[in-house]
Amino acid sequence: MPHRHPRGPRGLAGQAVTAVRPRPRRHRRDPGTRVGGGNRQIGQRVAIAWLAGACGECRYCISGRETLCEQQRNSGYSVDGAFAEYVAVPAAFATPVPDDVSSRDAAPLTCAGVTTYKAIKVAGVAPAETVAVFGIGGLGHLALQYARIFGGFTIGVDVTAEKLALAKELGADHVVDASAGDPAEAIQALGGADVAVALAASPASFDQAFRSLRRGGRLVCVALPADGTMSLPIFDTVLGGKSVIGSIVGTRNDLADVFALHAAGRTKVVAVDRKLDEVNDSIADVLAGRVPARVVFEM
Ligand SMILES: [Zn+2]
Repeated sequence: MPHRHPRGPRGLAGQAVTAVRPRPRRHRRDPGTRVGGGNRQIGQRVAIAWLAGACGECRYCISGRETLCEQQRNSGYSVDGAFAEYVAVPAAFATPVPDDVSSRDAAPLTCAGVTTYKAIKVAGVAPAETVAVFGIGGLGHLALQYARIFGGFTIGVDVTAEKLALAKELGADHVVDASAGDPAEAIQALGGADVAVALAASPASFDQAFRSLRRGGRLVCVALPADGTMSLPIFDTVLGGKSVIGSIVGTRNDLADVFALHAAGRTKVVAVDRKLDEVNDSIADVLAGRVPARVVFEM
């Protein structure tokens, strides 16, 4: 068998050691259609998420946990966000939007979608487990759908009839009205939840979500109530083998998964459309709970 020289540095085991001169590399440069390290094309539709940049070198970045990077930059927080006609973002952090995903749907998926997809993923939802989603709004309506995609049975928990109706429409197996009594008791009466996802910014709902867990259950904390703290019963947590997990948005790869699922028709986005100059009124409407799920601004 003819001996083939290795073309470049390789492992040495089992090979004749040959001095290999690297071939001169021909650099091929494209005179301008590429816009950066992310291999983006001019005119390509892209999504800009909360994670506007990360260092790419720390233990979190190189282990697939870039959303934990301590050098990260965040859209609309530490760098300018996208409530504007034009925005600058590193190409590598502009995630391509597939043709089968409309820009209108891509916007909520880039925040609420990737955040709840990740929450369901880190909870390790397995088929036939029960997932209780606390808060059926912009995040919750997508969390329910991802829980179903992972094979879970779902319980939607909210305090308004419209949100509970939305949960049913999206295929929730049960809905629980948290304004009508203790939702944890109602969920325990159904057998308890394997996973409870806390999406409502109210510390009381975190407590309810934890108490709705059955043994081996996982509470996934996503909402950020101001000054919120949780008090956990130690005996119940230890003897019941329960976990509390914090989940913050998702990586660029998670967002690519979210787009792929949507392009395949596996998720549905509920949103209302507004003009960009209505942004301040819209924020007030969201805070007052006057918006069914997500607001999308048109340019
Ligand atoms: Zn990093």
